[in-house]
Amino acid sequence: MDTEPASSSRSIASRVAGALSACRDAWLHASKLALDVALPTLCVSCREPVEGEGVCAACWAKLSFIEPPYCPRLGIPFVYDPGPDMLSMEAIANPPAYTRARAAVRYDDVARTLVHALKYHDRTDLAPAMGRWMARAGRELLDGADLLIPVPLHWRRAWGRRFNQSGALGRAIERQSGIRLRGDLLQRVRATEQQVGLTRAQRASNVQGAFQLSAEAKSQVQGRRLVLVDDVLTTGATLDACARALLRAKASQVDVLVFARVVDTPR
Ligand SMILES: [Zn+2]
Repeated sequence: MDTEPASSSRSIASRVAGALSACRDAWLHASKLALDVALPTLCVSCREPVEGEGVCAACWAKLSFIEPPYCPRLGIPFVYDPGPDMLSMEAIANPPAYTRARAAVRYDDVARTLVHALKYHDRTDLAPAMGRWMARAGRELLDGADLLIPVPLHWRRAWGRRFNQSGALGRAIERQSGIRLRGDLLQRVRATEQQVGLTRAQRASNVQGAFQLSAEAKSQVQGRRLVLVDDVLTTGATLDACARALLRAKASQVDVLVFARVVDTPR
């Protein structure tokens, strides 16, 4: 008998909860509308209002997308077309451990702004567009690849920054390509100094032995074709150290796909 009052008080309680929840949803909706009106999306680069994707048309036009002709090995754009299979001087003088590298854009002003917004200002909303451009630039690499591997941060740096920008770009490429992202296989076992301001030789020794795989992770990459994902390629020392660790674990091939790369030759 005493179940009835209990169940009716429950039903009153649940009706009150439902009404409160409806109020809250309406309020959230209204405040979101108010925010949409008050805060139009601004271009990440020039802060002008923009519709959609984070970069206005003028800044988009200033992004320097890397198109052929470029070095088939390193993806460095050529000033003129030297014919098929001609390598860049860089690829001949300093051949990296990875097989091929591709980048969506040159690392210039607008590209730097995008990378910094993603990396230091939590603009994860930029990752889908950046990942789309990367998937387009790296389609040869992604064709037949088994796994995407983001360049890992050391846990101490990951804490400070809250998320790994390479992982965010990797997830966007995963959605584009259907190739699985595995951020758990390659580990940064040693915190390294920032590479900024170091010479090529210093950069290489700074990251030597910084990356490792567990025995379980090694079994996951053995015989697999991998694509390493990062935001920027400068000298390639970090990516080279990652590729070496993956090749030691018997990956069949390692390619590199970045958002932007430093290019010395004029646009
Ligand atoms: Zn702009």
